[in-house]
Amino acid sequence: MTKPPYRPRTLAVRAGTHRAFQETSEGLFLTSGYAYDGPEQAAARFSGDDPGHIYSRFSNPTVQMFEERLAAIEGAAWCQATATGMAAVTAALLSQLSAGDHMVASRALFGSCRYVADDLCSRFGIEADFIDGTDLGAWKAAARPNTKLFFLESPSNPGLEVLDIPAIADIAHDKGARLLVDNVFATPVLQRPLDLGADLVCYSATKHLDGQGRVLGGAVLGREESFLTDTLKPFVRNTGPSISPFNAWVLLKSLETLDLRVRAMCENAAQIAEGLAAHIGGPLARVLYPFRDDHPQAEIARRQMAAGGTVVTVEFAGDAETAQANAFRFLGGLELIDVSNNLGDAKSLATHPRTTTHSRLSEEARMLQGVTPGLVRLSIGLEDPADLLADLDAAMRAC
Ligand SMILES: *Cc1c(COP(=O)(O)O)cnc(C)c1O
Repeated sequence: MTKPPYRPRTLAVRAGTHRAFQETSEGLFLTSGYAYDGPEQAAARFSGDDPGHIYSRFSNPTVQMFEERLAAIEGAAWCQATATGMAAVTAALLSQLSAGDHMVASRALFGSCRYVADDLCSRFGIEADFIDGTDLGAWKAAARPNTKLFFLESPSNPGLEVLDIPAIADIAHDKGARLLVDNVFATPVLQRPLDLGADLVCYSATKHLDGQGRVLGGAVLGREESFLTDTLKPFVRNTGPSISPFNAWVLLKSLETLDLRVRAMCENAAQIAEGLAAHIGGPLARVLYPFRDDHPQAEIARRQMAAGGTVVTVEFAGDAETAQANAFRFLGGLELIDVSNNLGDAKSLATHPRTTTHSRLSEEARMLQGVTPGLVRLSIGLEDPADLLADLDAAMRAC
């Protein structure tokens, strides 16, 4: 009899475990190098005839366990871990794009992703167009004969724009391009882009995968075996964005509770979105949450995500000055929720994107992404939702 195909929650606890001493908790192999039985084995390792480890910039047993477990949860053929989410994005882009290539990207990108895809890539002769990702016609129109890659984030930060991944994947493939999805906001618990047609997925593991605000990490996942062996792996091995085995071990253990944490955070976030909606018409102009009926892409969100996510974005009403002043009063009035630009943490965090995460963008770029003076992003954690709502309501009374 063959083993049943285990479900993601089982894989999150069990997949990728390699035991050295029958230990129940996975080992932390804090080593940079490896000793060989003799010169023959060393030669065989370097020639690839012996698949063992050579050097931890290339591979490491603890990192490998994290990669195998995340790949299993994601339903990917492979996973390449990196030191940060930005190392993952940079490796995914620069490993496959060359001078003369073109990329189409949704303009609602995380600030550093925009820097890499725009400022950095253009210095190396890689051109990119940034479009309104919700407009399928814009993806079609922007593609050129030399377009190699489509790149998007869904839901986006901080505007929670939800993009139709299967439709965009179809357009990409029609144009002979790959689709890369930054799946940080959804996590593999809520959305599996590879199943929806994407070719590559990347993560900042710093966010929900760790989920307790401790370590930085990242990952690129895919299903095309030759992309890993011929394109991504040589880039990572030789340029060195490798993750520390210690961080990989923290993340490996965090994956065991990812499903529980993300689902509980989503339940909290949905309740908070509902509670905050009572302030629309008062200090608030809008509450954005992908599963609320008034979200512009609620229908797409329900089709491709298992829940609405852990982030709620609110927009204060009034002219720019009033809205920003109220956003600051509100943030200043929070007692329980921390003012912090991180997200996906067990602790609920709130930030004003215009003056923090998106402060380096031009005002025009910010407005195109919906980063208005009155916008506040709430990353909802694991506290009791009644305590969170009481804190939010009290802060709202200051506005
Ligand atoms: C945080 C984040 C990143 C970058 O990840 P780091 O681990 O901070 O390097 C990339 N994309 C999105 C959507 C993020 O939220």
